[in-house]
Amino acid sequence: MLNLILFGPPGSGKGTQAKYIVEKYGAVHLSTGDIFRANIKEGTELGALAQSYLDKGNLVPDEVTIRMLQSEANKYPDVQGIIFDGFPRTIPQARSLDHFLQEKGETITLMVELQVPDALLKDRLAKRALDSGRPDDADPKVIENRLHVYYDQTAVVAEHYKEQGKHYTIDGMGSVEEVCTRIFSRINLSV
Ligand code: ADP
Repeated sequence: MLNLILFGPPGSGKGTQAKYIVEKYGAVHLSTGDIFRANIKEGTELGALAQSYLDKGNLVPDEVTIRMLQSEANKYPDVQGIIFDGFPRTIPQARSLDHFLQEKGETITLMVELQVPDALLKDRLAKRALDSGRPDDADPKVIENRLHVYYDQTAVVAEHYKEQGKHYTIDGMGSVEEVCTRIFSRINLSV
Protein backbone atom coordinates (compact mmCIF):
# COMPACT_ATOMS: atom_id res chain seq x y z
CA MET A 1 0.00 0.00 0.00
CA LEU A 2 1.23 3.50 -0.87
CA ASN A 3 0.59 6.03 1.88
CA LEU A 4 2.05 9.26 0.58
CA ILE A 5 2.07 12.69 2.17
CA LEU A 6 2.27 15.44 -0.45
CA PHE A 7 3.83 18.33 1.38
CA GLY A 8 4.72 21.91 0.55
CA PRO A 9 3.48 25.48 0.84
CA PRO A 10 0.24 26.80 -0.67
CA GLY A 11 0.62 26.96 -4.44
CA SER A 12 3.43 24.40 -4.59
CA GLY A 13 1.31 22.08 -6.77
CA LYS A 14 0.11 19.43 -4.34
CA GLY A 15 -3.44 19.23 -5.66
CA THR A 16 -2.31 19.18 -9.29
CA GLN A 17 0.21 16.42 -8.76
CA ALA A 18 -2.11 14.40 -6.51
CA LYS A 19 -4.43 13.77 -9.47
CA TYR A 20 -1.65 12.15 -11.51
CA ILE A 21 -0.39 10.06 -8.60
CA VAL A 22 -3.90 8.80 -7.90
CA GLU A 23 -4.30 7.74 -11.53
CA LYS A 24 -0.99 5.93 -11.73
CA TYR A 25 -0.99 4.17 -8.36
CA GLY A 26 -4.72 3.56 -7.90
CA ALA A 27 -4.77 5.50 -4.67
CA VAL A 28 -7.38 7.73 -3.07
CA HIS A 29 -6.81 11.48 -2.83
CA LEU A 30 -7.63 13.02 0.55
CA SER A 31 -7.33 16.80 0.47
CA THR A 32 -8.36 18.42 3.74
CA GLY A 33 -8.74 21.79 1.95
CA ASP A 34 -11.12 20.22 -0.62
CA ILE A 35 -13.11 18.50 2.12
CA PHE A 36 -13.49 21.74 4.08
CA ARG A 37 -14.55 23.62 0.92
CA ALA A 38 -17.11 20.92 0.05
CA ASN A 39 -18.55 21.21 3.57
CA ILE A 40 -18.75 24.99 3.29
CA LYS A 41 -20.55 24.65 -0.05
CA GLU A 42 -23.01 22.12 1.34
CA GLY A 43 -23.65 24.29 4.39
CA THR A 44 -22.81 21.59 6.93
CA GLU A 45 -22.04 22.26 10.58
CA LEU A 46 -18.37 21.46 9.91
CA GLY A 47 -18.38 23.92 7.02
CA ALA A 48 -19.79 26.67 9.21
CA LEU A 49 -17.10 26.02 11.78
CA ALA A 50 -14.26 25.89 9.24
CA GLN A 51 -15.25 28.92 7.16
CA SER A 52 -13.77 31.69 9.29
CA TYR A 53 -10.43 29.87 9.48
CA LEU A 54 -10.25 29.32 5.72
CA ASP A 55 -11.28 32.89 4.98
CA LYS A 56 -8.39 34.22 7.06
CA GLY A 57 -5.90 31.57 5.96
CA ASN A 58 -5.56 30.15 9.46
CA LEU A 59 -5.52 26.48 10.39
CA VAL A 60 -8.74 24.83 11.44
CA PRO A 61 -8.25 23.48 15.00
CA ASP A 62 -6.46 20.12 15.17
CA GLU A 63 -9.23 18.29 16.97
CA VAL A 64 -11.76 19.08 14.24
CA THR A 65 -9.34 18.43 11.38
CA ILE A 66 -8.08 15.13 12.77
CA ARG A 67 -11.58 13.81 13.37
CA MET A 68 -12.64 14.76 9.86
CA LEU A 69 -9.57 13.21 8.22
CA GLN A 70 -10.02 9.94 10.07
CA SER A 71 -13.68 9.63 9.19
CA GLU A 72 -12.86 10.32 5.51
CA ALA A 73 -10.04 7.76 5.47
CA ASN A 74 -12.33 5.18 7.06
CA LYS A 75 -14.62 5.45 4.03
CA TYR A 76 -11.97 3.64 1.96
CA PRO A 77 -11.02 0.44 3.80
CA ASP A 78 -9.82 -1.48 0.74
CA VAL A 79 -7.77 1.04 -1.23
CA GLN A 80 -4.33 0.52 -2.73
CA GLY A 81 -3.11 3.68 -1.11
CA ILE A 82 -3.90 7.15 0.16
CA ILE A 83 -2.44 10.46 -1.01
CA PHE A 84 -2.60 12.88 1.91
CA ASP A 85 -2.74 16.43 0.56
CA GLY A 86 -2.81 19.28 3.08
CA PHE A 87 -2.56 16.91 6.05
CA PRO A 88 -0.74 16.69 8.41
CA ARG A 89 -0.11 20.41 8.89
CA THR A 90 0.90 20.34 12.56
CA ILE A 91 2.90 17.97 14.76
CA PRO A 92 -0.21 16.74 16.66
CA GLN A 93 -1.82 15.97 13.27
CA ALA A 94 1.31 14.03 12.21
CA ARG A 95 1.35 12.04 15.46
CA SER A 96 -2.34 11.25 15.17
CA LEU A 97 -1.91 10.12 11.57
CA ASP A 98 0.99 7.81 12.45
CA HIS A 99 -1.08 6.31 15.25
CA PHE A 100 -4.20 6.00 13.12
CA LEU A 101 -2.29 4.10 10.40
CA GLN A 102 -0.42 1.98 12.92
CA GLU A 103 -3.71 0.72 14.34
CA LYS A 104 -4.55 -0.54 10.86
CA GLY A 105 -1.17 -2.19 10.48
CA GLU A 106 -0.16 0.55 8.04
CA THR A 107 2.42 3.29 7.96
CA ILE A 108 3.42 6.34 5.92
CA THR A 109 5.48 5.15 2.96
CA LEU A 110 7.07 8.50 2.21
CA MET A 111 6.63 12.26 2.36
CA VAL A 112 7.32 14.24 -0.81
CA GLU A 113 7.97 17.93 -0.23
CA LEU A 114 7.56 20.19 -3.26
CA GLN A 115 10.01 23.07 -3.14
CA VAL A 116 9.06 26.32 -4.85
CA PRO A 117 10.39 29.83 -4.07
CA ASP A 118 7.97 32.24 -2.37
CA ALA A 119 7.88 34.70 -5.28
CA LEU A 120 6.69 31.97 -7.64
CA LEU A 121 4.13 30.70 -5.09
CA LYS A 122 2.55 34.15 -4.84
CA ASP A 123 2.52 34.40 -8.61
CA ARG A 124 0.81 31.00 -9.01
CA LEU A 125 -1.78 31.74 -6.31
CA ALA A 126 -2.64 35.10 -7.86
CA LYS A 127 -3.16 33.36 -11.22
CA ARG A 128 -5.21 30.59 -9.61
CA ALA A 129 -7.45 33.22 -8.01
CA LEU A 130 -8.71 34.15 -11.49
CA ASP A 131 -10.53 30.84 -11.92
CA SER A 132 -10.44 28.92 -8.61
CA GLY A 133 -13.26 30.93 -7.08
CA ARG A 134 -11.36 30.60 -3.80
CA PRO A 135 -11.63 33.75 -1.69
CA ASP A 136 -8.39 32.80 0.09
CA ASP A 137 -6.52 33.03 -3.25
CA ALA A 138 -7.99 36.42 -4.13
CA ASP A 139 -6.69 38.46 -1.20
CA PRO A 140 -2.90 39.10 -1.06
CA LYS A 141 -3.11 39.56 2.72
CA VAL A 142 -4.66 36.10 3.13
CA ILE A 143 -2.00 34.60 0.83
CA GLU A 144 0.67 36.27 2.94
CA ASN A 145 -0.89 34.80 6.08
CA ARG A 146 -1.12 31.28 4.59
CA LEU A 147 2.59 31.40 3.76
CA HIS A 148 3.35 32.71 7.24
CA VAL A 149 1.27 29.93 8.85
CA TYR A 150 3.04 27.38 6.65
CA TYR A 151 6.55 28.43 7.70
CA ASP A 152 5.52 29.06 11.30
CA GLN A 153 3.41 25.98 12.10
CA THR A 154 3.57 23.49 9.25
CA ALA A 155 7.16 23.35 7.93
CA VAL A 156 8.24 21.58 11.15
CA VAL A 157 6.16 18.53 10.14
CA ALA A 158 8.90 17.75 7.59
CA GLU A 159 11.31 17.26 10.53
CA HIS A 160 8.97 14.68 12.02
CA TYR A 161 9.23 12.52 8.88
CA LYS A 162 12.95 13.28 8.41
CA GLU A 163 13.45 11.62 11.79
CA GLN A 164 11.67 8.56 10.39
CA GLY A 165 13.87 8.62 7.25
CA LYS A 166 10.79 9.12 5.05
CA HIS A 167 11.19 12.71 3.86
CA TYR A 168 12.23 13.59 0.30
CA THR A 169 12.50 16.96 -1.39
CA ILE A 170 11.40 17.41 -4.99
CA ASP A 171 12.03 20.47 -7.13
CA GLY A 172 8.53 21.86 -7.74
CA MET A 173 9.58 24.21 -10.54
CA GLY A 174 9.17 23.47 -14.23
CA SER A 175 6.19 22.05 -16.10
CA VAL A 176 3.50 19.92 -14.44
CA GLU A 177 4.83 16.92 -16.42
CA GLU A 178 8.41 17.51 -15.33
CA VAL A 179 7.47 17.70 -11.66
CA CYS A 180 5.24 14.65 -12.05
CA THR A 181 8.09 12.61 -13.57
CA ARG A 182 10.33 13.54 -10.63
CA ILE A 183 7.66 12.47 -8.13
CA PHE A 184 7.00 9.14 -9.89
CA SER A 185 10.73 8.35 -9.92
CA ARG A 186 10.93 9.03 -6.19
CA ILE A 187 7.83 6.96 -5.38
CA ASN A 188 9.15 4.04 -7.45
CA LEU A 189 12.26 3.94 -5.26
CA SER A 190 10.08 3.56 -2.16
CA VAL A 191 7.45 1.03 -3.23
P1 ADP B 1 -3.38 25.61 0.19
O1 ADP B 1 -2.41 24.47 0.35
O2 ADP B 1 -3.37 26.19 -1.19
O3 ADP B 1 -3.30 26.67 1.26
P2 ADP B 1 -5.63 23.90 1.01
O4 ADP B 1 -6.77 23.67 0.12
O5 ADP B 1 -4.71 22.76 1.31
O6 ADP B 1 -4.84 25.09 0.30
O7 ADP B 1 -6.13 24.51 2.41
C1 ADP B 1 -7.00 25.59 2.47
C2 ADP B 1 -7.32 25.96 3.92
O8 ADP B 1 -7.99 24.85 4.56
C3 ADP B 1 -6.13 26.27 4.82
O9 ADP B 1 -5.69 27.60 4.70
C4 ADP B 1 -6.73 25.97 6.21
O10 ADP B 1 -7.58 27.02 6.63
C5 ADP B 1 -7.62 24.76 5.94
N1 ADP B 1 -6.87 23.48 6.13
C6 ADP B 1 -6.56 22.59 5.16
N2 ADP B 1 -5.88 21.55 5.68
C7 ADP B 1 -5.77 21.77 7.00
C8 ADP B 1 -5.17 21.06 8.09
N3 ADP B 1 -4.54 19.89 7.91
N4 ADP B 1 -5.26 21.60 9.34
C9 ADP B 1 -5.88 22.76 9.54
N5 ADP B 1 -6.45 23.48 8.57
C10 ADP B 1 -6.41 23.01 7.31
